Amino acid sequence: MALPRPVSPIGRRRDPGLTAGTASLPARVDVAVVGGGLIGLATAWRLAGRGLSVAVIERGAVGCGASLAATGMLAPAAEHEPGSDPLLPLALDSLARWPGFRDDLEAASGLSIDYRPDGTLVLAVGRDEVERLRFRYELQRRSGLDAEWLPGTEVRRLEPMLRPSVTAGVRCPLDHQVDPRLVMAALARACMEAGVTVVENTPVTGLDWAGGTVTGLGTGGGSLRASTVILAAGAWSGEGGLLPEALALPVRPLKGQALALRTTRRTGTLSRMVWTEQVHMAPKGDGQLIVGATVEDCGFQPGTTAGGLYALLEGARRVLPGIEEMEVEAVWSGFRPTSDDDAPILDTLAPGLVAATGHHRNGYLLAPVTADAIADLVATGEMPAVARPFTLARFARPEPRRAAR
Ligand SMILES: Cc1cc2nc3c(=O)[nH]c(=O)nc-3n(C[C@H](O)[C@H](O)[C@H](O)COP(=O)(O)OP(=O)(O)OC[C@H]3O[C@@H](n4cnc5c(N)ncnc54)[C@H](O)[C@@H]3O)c2cc1C
Repeated sequence: MALPRPVSPIGRRRDPGLTAGTASLPARVDVAVVGGGLIGLATAWRLAGRGLSVAVIERGAVGCGASLAATGMLAPAAEHEPGSDPLLPLALDSLARWPGFRDDLEAASGLSIDYRPDGTLVLAVGRDEVERLRFRYELQRRSGLDAEWLPGTEVRRLEPMLRPSVTAGVRCPLDHQVDPRLVMAALARACMEAGVTVVENTPVTGLDWAGGTVTGLGTGGGSLRASTVILAAGAWSGEGGLLPEALALPVRPLKGQALALRTTRRTGTLSRMVWTEQVHMAPKGDGQLIVGATVEDCGFQPGTTAGGLYALLEGARRVLPGIEEMEVEAVWSGFRPTSDDDAPILDTLAPGLVAATGHHRNGYLLAPVTADAIADLVATGEMPAVARPFTLARFARPEPRRAAR
């Protein structure tokens, strides 16, 4: 007799009814976007707003890459660390664009995206962590970021569910958050309203070239001519196949696992995002508490592991004992598109071919400035000054010096 298979009550992360693309492939558009993630949809929507005809070609379902795996933190302050100074102007510019982007998106889609300007609390437990937090705090202050040092008593006054062992904290009022599921649903709807053609379940198999210019793309279901093709294929942007060797992008996948806990009036919850050295936790408007995220350099190895989930739960319980009573509602993983310096690649790779990828752990934070900058690039040939340092040129190796004779 066959044993009954155990049925897990834990689901994968569900999207709130994303419906985007049953459309068929058009013959010709002004702009074709490879990839229906956050960056592809946000850029397509902004381009359609400028009167261009746009098609997004997604090999799976909209959002099936990193974009529905994210926590949705817009957190340039909490995430600021040594080495992130070059990214800071772009991050702060994008954060400043978020309220306008939210207003436009909610108006265009008729959907709320649960935008929360509540800030982040970065926590330390024990003397060693306090020293490291002090270092982070001083770095934030030197970089001009708003940050406030708090003793443990004050941290617990703000978040009474935290353990008494929390020794100190830094409040980062600048940081905001959104709900990725709602942002992606709103973008899918806004794209449709703006006339963007979204074609799902259609892998792009190659780019069409005429001389040195990209003139369109090919799929299993036919080809599409386009004046510009935008490569927004996330972690897959660096894979061989679509781009010739000479244009290969330095982008690789960095896997992240995360989970959602169900909070109730009985379990209580946090009122803002909390960061520790092990995990971040973000309360959402629907009562979910997101606990994320592992960082694993393991290629495209899919799935969630006991080790990954254990590390997240242990890290969360260390500061928030109340999680023990919370139901685990969903677990998932995704692949951050990570470039060699963790910053995005926004550039014209060849005539007719533009890249918008490599957003690593900051895709949500950087979506508004990316969409606007790429729309500018396509429409006018120039990006705003704040985006110009993020071309491929920064990875160019310096010419070896000739020996002096
Ligand atoms: C666990 C986790 C937590 C995160 N938390 C945050 C956060 O709190 N804040 C934040 O700002 N960012 C966060 N991020 C990062 C953020 O999710 C990404 O930076 C962002 O989603 C990247 O968007 P994208 O559109 O470039 O990539 P993706 O969402 O991966 O989209 C790329 C799409 O291209 C498609 N595609 C690939 N190849 C082809 C092809 N040949 N043809 C057609 N389609 C193709 C894929 O199917 C995919 O849907 C997190 C990421 C992870 C994994």
